[in-house]
Amino acid sequence: MPIPFIEPFRIKVVEKLKVTTHEERAVALASAHNNLFAVPAEDVFVDLLTDSGTGAMSDAQWAGIMRGDESYAGARSYAHFESAVQEVTGFPYVLPTHQGRGAEGMLFQTLVKAGQIVPNNRHFDTTQANLLVLGANPVDLTVPEGDDPQADLPFKGNMDLERLEDLIRRVGAERIPIGMITITNNSAAGQPVSMDNLRQTSEIYHRYGIPFFIDACRFAENAWFIKLRDPRYRDVPVTKIVKEIFSYADGCTMSAKKDAIVNIGGFIAFRDPALKQRIAERLIVHEGFITYGGLAGRDLEALAVGLFEGVDEDYLAYRESHTRYLGQVLSEAGLPVYQPTGGHAVYVNAGLALPQIPAAQFPGVALANALYLEGGVRTVEIGSLMFSRPDPESGEMIYAPMELVRFAIPRRVYTRSHLEYVGECAAEMMKHIDAIKGLRVTRAPQVLRHFTAELEQI
Ligand SMILES: *Cc1c(COP(=O)(O)O)cnc(C)c1O
Repeated sequence: MPIPFIEPFRIKVVEKLKVTTHEERAVALASAHNNLFAVPAEDVFVDLLTDSGTGAMSDAQWAGIMRGDESYAGARSYAHFESAVQEVTGFPYVLPTHQGRGAEGMLFQTLVKAGQIVPNNRHFDTTQANLLVLGANPVDLTVPEGDDPQADLPFKGNMDLERLEDLIRRVGAERIPIGMITITNNSAAGQPVSMDNLRQTSEIYHRYGIPFFIDACRFAENAWFIKLRDPRYRDVPVTKIVKEIFSYADGCTMSAKKDAIVNIGGFIAFRDPALKQRIAERLIVHEGFITYGGLAGRDLEALAVGLFEGVDEDYLAYRESHTRYLGQVLSEAGLPVYQPTGGHAVYVNAGLALPQIPAAQFPGVALANALYLEGGVRTVEIGSLMFSRPDPESGEMIYAPMELVRFAIPRRVYTRSHLEYVGECAAEMMKHIDAIKGLRVTRAPQVLRHFTAELEQI
């Protein structure tokens, strides 16, 4: 009998979870000013806030932690890290960074100036923020079906190629110092990008002489979707698909907290040694020397092992079906689930679930908070608290294209029973969904406000 897509690992170490009462959760949420980021993790039972750095490392990774070489320069662990990145991505040059945003910061600060434009299928929040603080303008160009939560299509994370070329012609290639694409498209419901779209995006950027970088946090999940959904790749090993993906780009930024299954770490990889040199100078000032980039030797060792575990096909088959299962459970509970489910997360259309709450009153935040109160399940809004900003020209508020709640699944952490429990909480919450109220912001910073905003119920 073939092994079904269940957990292809067993549990060797466990971590106790605290069971809380409804009253305790109400106190925790009130003390957090209705922002789940401010709720102590101890008061969360199933934590689906993010899949970033929350994965469970393998025995092989923990063994790597013990073997870590903590030499300041030229550590053995750096050599392992470098050759793992070279082998998996095919890029010849790499610089480690403390995490993904460190990679973005170093790359953008080196290449991007105020007033310039950076296209992407959709910028992740930190990517957007790293450009905004430089006075640059991040432009999102996901295909329109990416914003249709019902369309059951294979590659809804794709770049809109027509609008991309249009933008480059309109503003001029000299105003675009770098072009990006994000795989999978985290801010567009974790949807994958097709191989054709990656190749064509690369062709367009390169036709206009624009360097092309991939925001590669979930490159392995994206490769798995290409294998599942593009018949031409059915029999191609994921490791080969990954190589082809990266072959179209000049480099990538990576948060290893995602598909390299480590708790901290990231990198920038390149083809151009001159660009590597320019960024290395900045890296030494901000992140650390070029053979550790803000990481400990043991982190580099765990990353080197995790990169290979992240492209293991038994793991990827489990990962995709585990996430799809949560989508089924939430649909059965009556929530409108974005279709199809992404690789790392299930997205619920809070705008549709809570028609009584307008975008300006954050239906996603309201839904996430209600679910936390119900059963200690923590999720995150990916909507107008995270993404609305005033139009740089008119000053008018631009709201997020969709008001979503993301249920992100940490890698190798929760079992199917945990996911079933999340479904049970959602079903309970649905019984009083009409009574859920919107919120207003009482205090928030300018950039990345969703992390630390304080809110009150209206
Ligand atoms: C997580 C993430 C980042 C930023 O990485 P950090 O490690 O959190 O700094 C950038 N882009 C995407 C698509 C991400 O998911």
